[in-house]
Amino acid sequence: MHRIEVIQAGDSSGNNMIIRARLSSGRAVFGFATDNFFDDDWTLGPTWNYLVTAKNPFLFDAGRRGKGLPLLEMIESVGVSSRDIDAIVLSHGHEDHDGGIFEITGATNARVLAHETYGCLVGPLPEAAPSSEKALFPVSCWSCPMSASFARRNCLEYHKERSKAKISDLTMNGELGAGVEVIHIPGHSPDAVALLIDGEALLPGDTILPDISPHPSQERFFGLMRAALPGKWQEAQQLFGLRAYIRSLRRLEELAGASRDLLVLPAHRLYHRDRFAVLDLRERIGELVGHHAERCCDFARILKSGSKTLEEVAAAHFRPELLKGPGFSLAADEVASHCELMAASGDVVFPGDGKILSNGTQNFLSLIGELR
Ligand SMILES: [Zn+2]
Ligand SMILES: [Zn+2]
Repeated sequence: MHRIEVIQAGDSSGNNMIIRARLSSGRAVFGFATDNFFDDDWTLGPTWNYLVTAKNPFLFDAGRRGKGLPLLEMIESVGVSSRDIDAIVLSHGHEDHDGGIFEITGATNARVLAHETYGCLVGPLPEAAPSSEKALFPVSCWSCPMSASFARRNCLEYHKERSKAKISDLTMNGELGAGVEVIHIPGHSPDAVALLIDGEALLPGDTILPDISPHPSQERFFGLMRAALPGKWQEAQQLFGLRAYIRSLRRLEELAGASRDLLVLPAHRLYHRDRFAVLDLRERIGELVGHHAERCCDFARILKSGSKTLEEVAAAHFRPELLKGPGFSLAADEVASHCELMAASGDVVFPGDGKILSNGTQNFLSLIGELR
């Protein structure tokens, strides 16, 4: 990867690695890989946080909770004073990207900038919460599949901190300086943004990853969270679900058409199994859209034999090792996202008995092809 220079080596997954990408505009983008979740079978790999140099340098993402200070040390090690960081821009509101913001704002003068929906969803809204248990948690967590006891144990402190953060609206700000374009790319998360730097480097957050197909959200979350969102968002598919996700991919694909040879710097797996991922944006988007179309085809095939619950479809589609523990509800969520799209194209219905019924049609293929 000719444009990427290794400043500090990491392990085979890239943990603790530091890279520098030099753009022909003269600007440098540093990448810092901070550790992330691991389990025995599968690793997402570290979070790649990027520092974009400018008159007012800014960070794109802050790592997990507990990784903010190690990230600042890495930044200092490349000769950038952490006091000079003007802002932390959040790719989206998942803990592996925004968990470290408090440590960083506590140690620097950096402001936090995010898409307007991020700030609306990080606080609690007890009067609209779907249950008394969820009333303790921010709106963004109302759709979380994890049990309340898990969430109380692992997330409550992080959420308490995060709800106190002062967040400025990124889309209102235009303050990242000339040459930096902010693109709202909802779907994986309603608040997801990508940055295009000098038309040469794309920072897509979790929306485009090598090897991994990012998890789409569900359109039904819009109904759950609507009370907290600005009124200008009227339709679920503007912010949530697989249709939003595919539309966002198409938006990014247009960039690939406008600028050849775009350097894509994803938020995970930039380096994996001892090598860099070289992403061709257009090709990767084709693969991701194709993957979702195939998944819909397989769910349609599974539903041919009769109506089924989300869980039954998940059990028939996914390999058993992916269905262990929380994997099962993640798999059922994945089925739900796809069935929402297939309901929009008239291929399935939800008769109200908790099951999904197929009409035997595959109009979803043309719907997916037409999403823009
Ligand atoms: Zn994410
Ligand atoms: Zn992530």
